[in-house]
Amino acid sequence: MLVKEGKSVFNGVAIGKIFVYRKADKAVSQNQVEDTTAEMARFEAAKEKAMSQLKGLYEKALKDVGEEEAMIFDVHQMLLDDLDYNESIQNIIENDKMNAEYAVFMTCEQFAAMFLSMDDDYMRGRAADVKDISERVISILNGSQVSPEAMPEPVIILAEDLAPSETVQFEKDKLLALVTQKGSANSHTAILARTMNIPSLVSTDVEVDPDYDGKMAVVDGFAGLLYIDPDEETLTKMYEKKGRADQQRALLQEMKGKETVTKSGKHIHLYSNIGGIQDVDAVLENDAEGIGLFRSEFLYLECDDYPSEEVQFEAYKTVLSRMGGKKVIIRTLDIGADKQIGYFDLPKEENPALGYRAIRICLTREEVFRTQLRALYRASAYGTLSIMFPMIISVKEILRIKEIVEEVKLELAREDKPVGNVELGIMIETPAAAVISDLLAPYVDFFSIGTNDLSQYTLAIDRQNQSLDNFFDPHHEAILRLIQVTIENAHKYGAWCGICGELGADMELTQRFIQMGIDELSVSPGYTLALRKRIREC
Ligand code: PEP
Ligand code: MG
Repeated sequence: MLVKEGKSVFNGVAIGKIFVYRKADKAVSQNQVEDTTAEMARFEAAKEKAMSQLKGLYEKALKDVGEEEAMIFDVHQMLLDDLDYNESIQNIIENDKMNAEYAVFMTCEQFAAMFLSMDDDYMRGRAADVKDISERVISILNGSQVSPEAMPEPVIILAEDLAPSETVQFEKDKLLALVTQKGSANSHTAILARTMNIPSLVSTDVEVDPDYDGKMAVVDGFAGLLYIDPDEETLTKMYEKKGRADQQRALLQEMKGKETVTKSGKHIHLYSNIGGIQDVDAVLENDAEGIGLFRSEFLYLECDDYPSEEVQFEAYKTVLSRMGGKKVIIRTLDIGADKQIGYFDLPKEENPALGYRAIRICLTREEVFRTQLRALYRASAYGTLSIMFPMIISVKEILRIKEIVEEVKLELAREDKPVGNVELGIMIETPAAAVISDLLAPYVDFFSIGTNDLSQYTLAIDRQNQSLDNFFDPHHEAILRLIQVTIENAHKYGAWCGICGELGADMELTQRFIQMGIDELSVSPGYTLALRKRIREC
């Protein structure tokens, strides 16, 4: 038995097999082969697996976003089955005696170049599709692909590190726990783990050794420990611990349906943070009063290209309709820094956290922003929508946002598209915004304090950098004072103020936040009932 220490980002006990996650290997090997029949068989097997994945993706997209958007996976299947494409691969393997990866790669290059040289825009667009299917086949061939199909049963993922774009690919019901060698407690992967309600460790002192694949393991999120090949005694103890944790969770069920109110009668709005439609079930199961932060960028991270107005409209509408009139606060696109999306083609930066991100991208690439705002306002007719804007530092930004919002609303009115009454708010997640919150408050309906970024910028501690953890103090007086001043200034101008950063779930601070006058707390769905209990004790 091996025992490894990590930093827990979500409590709980998970028991199951390890799946060692390897990053997709983009390098393509180039080798001569003797046995071309065996090589052709390798290609055929990989192709068959890719086909079945594409079928699965078609079904999933059909269910989640509709037929029009699902069609792309149909097109991918047709391209993968194309006679010329397959003949080219066969020729390179059989005549040139090259390995299958190289044959697929060369064929892809030829076909992509051919599509790109065409006059028709639609045909030129197919170059990206050929690349996509070829990369899929190559990553299956070289064994670097993780897909839900590769995980026959729920597993504990062991990885060096996980980018948000990788974490979102995992099927939630195939995950027991996440364990990463790198990563910090405030990283987006940690936040996703909390949203998914699974015990997880970051910054773990463990090698990402392929030999661990398939080994039995236990993640103890209470103690921050990973046991690999646990002995009988440990396993028995861990099953007992898991049982107690399940029991405690069951006890919290009595909080369902109860009001979130302090002993002195102050009601606190208790909302949930989500990353996508798939998290709405957890919000409803945990009886949250609404959604306080929908990180809309995850919708963009899950797509291979800019999600259209229609795709976004359907997603927002689904969330609003499922919440049945309860408040839903959707944050506009917040990418950049650790949330990189290939098709945005963002420039490489020396200091990405201090760089081109969030509202800065939206205000300079207005077409992207306007598409999202149109989708949001159209969806607003189906529930109670609030929109909030990330990374604000000035009044000037709010004024420009409001101009664009008015133009979008006018456009929709001209098209006779109904819209609802939408509250507008901003995230307070830069020290600048907190300090001038008195100047910002008159222009908005609400503030939502993003303590994850507010902490990193106030303390000058990169939230991604695990080696600074010893210097990081989430209860630092500077952060608490900025929260206090933000709440006071919001109230002075008739705006309400909440917290949607991870600190909102820190129950050592609940009493203090209430004394400061906080109106709302938005936390991962799994924390909702425990926090309700804590608030009722205050
Ligand atoms: C925050 O910064 O606290 C926040 C809620 O936004 P994100 O974690 O997505 O940056
Ligand atoms: Mg933030």
